[in-house]
Amino acid sequence: MDTVTEGCPFCKRENQEMAFLESDNFLALYNIAPILRGHSLVVPKRHAVSLMDLNETESAELVAFSRKVTLLLQFAFKSDGFDWSLQDGINAGQTVSHFHLHIVIRSKMDLGGQDWFQLIQENNKTLLDSSSRPRLSDEEYLFYTEYIKDQYKKMNQISED
Ligand SMILES: [Zn+2]
Repeated sequence: MDTVTEGCPFCKRENQEMAFLESDNFLALYNIAPILRGHSLVVPKRHAVSLMDLNETESAELVAFSRKVTLLLQFAFKSDGFDWSLQDGINAGQTVSHFHLHIVIRSKMDLGGQDWFQLIQENNKTLLDSSSRPRLSDEEYLFYTEYIKDQYKKMNQISED
């Protein structure tokens, strides 16, 4: 059974609809305020706070699914590198108490020398606070979600050929 926690941004029913990819227990969501094009989040469908709350099956699925999501994002946005970032616990900078893995796909000089980790820290606040960074409009958000879904079909067609 899914545990849904009221007020949790990642437990909202809409998230299931807005995911561009899903597995049995996880969703891949485009970041509402991406630090770079393609910046997405992997979240468990049930309300789990920490990586340590996931069982063995979920832990294995997390890695397999996140690899798949990363490959898809790299294909969709023509990138050849990536950062994964996980803040686990308040003292580690976790602001939303629902497990989320940041996937930031990278390209040469994409941040113009800025520190990506600092931007991730700021982004974590944005997930809760709408005033700290510009957010995508609903239309833009939908555009990226649909674009990635479409790219997923293309990627699978290529691998079948
Ligand atoms: Zn939640």
